Amino acid sequence: MSRIVVLGGGESGVGSAVLAKVKGHDVFLSDMGTISEDYAAMLDKWEIPFEQGRHTEGLILNADEVIKSPGIPSTAPMVRKITEKGIGVISEIEFAGRYDSAKKICITGSNGKTTTTSLVYHLLKQAGLNVGLGGNIGKSYAFQVATENFDIYVLELSSFQLDNVYDFKADIAIITNITPDHLDRYGHNMENYVKAKFRITRNMSSDDCFIFCSDDEITIRHLDQIVMKAKMLPFTQKGEVDQGAFVADDRMIVRYKEEECDMYLQELALGGRHNVYNSMAAALAAKVMDIDNEAIRSGLATFQAVEHRLENVLSIKDVLYINDSKATNVDAAWYALECQTRPVVWIVGGTDKGNDYESLIPLAKEKVKAMICMGLDNAKFHESFEGIVPEIHDVTSAKDAVGLAHSIAVSGDVVLLSPCCASFDLFKNYEDRGRQFKEAVRNL
Ligand code: ADP
Repeated sequence: MSRIVVLGGGESGVGSAVLAKVKGHDVFLSDMGTISEDYAAMLDKWEIPFEQGRHTEGLILNADEVIKSPGIPSTAPMVRKITEKGIGVISEIEFAGRYDSAKKICITGSNGKTTTTSLVYHLLKQAGLNVGLGGNIGKSYAFQVATENFDIYVLELSSFQLDNVYDFKADIAIITNITPDHLDRYGHNMENYVKAKFRITRNMSSDDCFIFCSDDEITIRHLDQIVMKAKMLPFTQKGEVDQGAFVADDRMIVRYKEEECDMYLQELALGGRHNVYNSMAAALAAKVMDIDNEAIRSGLATFQAVEHRLENVLSIKDVLYINDSKATNVDAAWYALECQTRPVVWIVGGTDKGNDYESLIPLAKEKVKAMICMGLDNAKFHESFEGIVPEIHDVTSAKDAVGLAHSIAVSGDVVLLSPCCASFDLFKNYEDRGRQFKEAVRNL
């Protein structure tokens, strides 16, 4: 038994605390902020002592090991003190991995994590495997290791969740792509962010598989600088590959070992060029897991889009309203604009994470008839798009944004919420932003 202190009382922290308790450790959880009622009740139920609104040093600095929730930066004063005392700081993923012998398929990347993770899960589940879904999505991985008994886990891992992994090993790792995001947490240094993503491949051996996008320059550049022991399986929309996935003649083709699975792009349930990438990555993982071709095809054809990701809300007088609230960075918005075939009234804005809008200018010029900036500070949008987009407006609520969009859009247009930014200036989170948008649309 050792003393485990958990910092942070959200999904990840509470799951870790429950697992530590189940494994017989002396557990204490501490949160500087407030812990929601549900999580507090859960801690009580599992008889785990905790504090909120403070960090009591006497109860923390006597830990043998500290599990840090991904939302807490390593520069937080308490984390610094813990590290200075020489106490090991690990992530929930590292901790839970110690107690889990299931096969693990782990997905990270700047964009497409949730979609790809859900796709892989859907393919395996539909094929009848005993598979759990976790990480950044749904129930925490640690909680499931404590309370479930799956043969396989499909885990979405953010770079923050990967920051403190050391011995954790994935059997299949996927990096969907790497574009600048969250640089504020990585000392505004892209290299640090790339390295955090690549931690998903730590400890992998030649029995394991690494699935990656070979069209992604940043990924390829990093691969050139390291030794990758795992089998490399690229997916690409540029040219053919021997082992991996590629596109030819309107079909997506997956090759693994001696097998080949192909499918018409038109049959994919999810539209847009980015979802061809996500579908290829997921199909590759399924092929490695020995799922048969028919199950892969039907799984990719029947998958239901995840909420807030290019989600069609309603069509009103032939104006289609699309909720892409999860597009919290420039690259995601690029793909959202790229796949639009009708004139776009584009709702953007929120908390800027050091964005550069340059790459969006050609698409905005070509497709956007009006921009509605929904944020407290919209100056950067005005600077970047003035003279590019015919009209730019400012609003401070989803209701006003939708009302204004409704008055601008005409039959045949699309109203697209794809904000390029985090949501914390006006909303609780991106889900809240997406739901308020949808509600305002339904009230039109
Ligand atoms: P994540 O979990 O990495 O944030 P999601 O699947 O939730 O990824 O999608 C986030 C946003 O990125 C959505 O706006 C979605 O349309 C867009 N997106 C999804 N897949 C990709 C991809 N492969 N490349 C670029 N953008 C993508």
